[in-house]
Order: sequence, then C-alpha cells, then structure tokens
Amino acid sequence: MRRIRYIVIHCSAGQPTSTMAGVRAHWAKLGWDRPGYHKMILADGEVLELSKDERFTYGAKGFNANSIHICYMGGVDKDGKTPKDTRTPAQKATMEQLVKEYMLKYPKAQILGHKDFKGVKKACPSFEVKDWLKEIHLA
Ligand SMILES: [Zn+2]
Repeated sequence: MRRIRYIVIHCSAGQPTSTMAGVRAHWAKLGWDRPGYHKMILADGEVLELSKDERFTYGAKGFNANSIHICYMGGVDKDGKTPKDTRTPAQKATMEQLVKEYMLKYPKAQILGHKDFKGVKKACPSFEVKDWLKEIHLA
C-alpha cells in the first residue's frame, strides 16, 4: 500500500485540444515505462484513468512514491510557450470533483501544484492551486 502524502495538480503543457496520443508519444521519447499521471482531464471534462492509484507514476521527480498526479490537458497559451490557465469550465468542475474524492480517500494528503514542490523550475500547472482551493472553498 502506498502512503499518499501529496495530491499533485499538473497541466500537460500543451493546448486543451492536444491528444493523449501526443502526450504518450512524449513519454515514450523520454523512455518512460509508465504514465506521468494517474488521471488526465480532457477539455470536455472527461477523465481518463492512466494508472491505478496503487502504482506510482512519473509526475514529480523525488515525490512520486507518495503522490497521486492529476493533470488537465492544456496549460499553455496559443503561442505554444506562455504558461496560461486554459482550464475549461468542464475541466475545472471535474478537477474539483476528483480532488474531493481524493481528499476523502487520503484525508492527510496535501493538495498542491507541481511547481509548489521546492526546487521545481516549471510553471506547471499554470495557476495557483492554493488560490483555486480557496475559490472552491476547499482551503
Ligand atoms: Zn507537472
């Protein structure tokens, strides 16, 4: 049984319309033998289960053994490089629901964005998780 300490929010660092095939091709290029996240939230709010919670995924180096990784498709502006919160209302609703489910399953876990880990030099997930949790009254 894994001890879950972190529920980590990510973006795919692409467009909301990016495909899962593209994300998987990227992982294959990195030589990964498993997914980067447990759940992927598509632009229409649909959730793809990429991994069972019992298995670790590659979302945040150094923290994966104790993390659940949730990702939304998007996170970058149309210029292809500027970090931007591109979450659709459907993605936000699904993300809220997933976070609530995981809070029940792992009541002691901390919810944070990928960039909130010390030493991470990424903009992921392109918004402040702390502020969003306040907005939806979960913090
Ligand atoms: Zn990330």
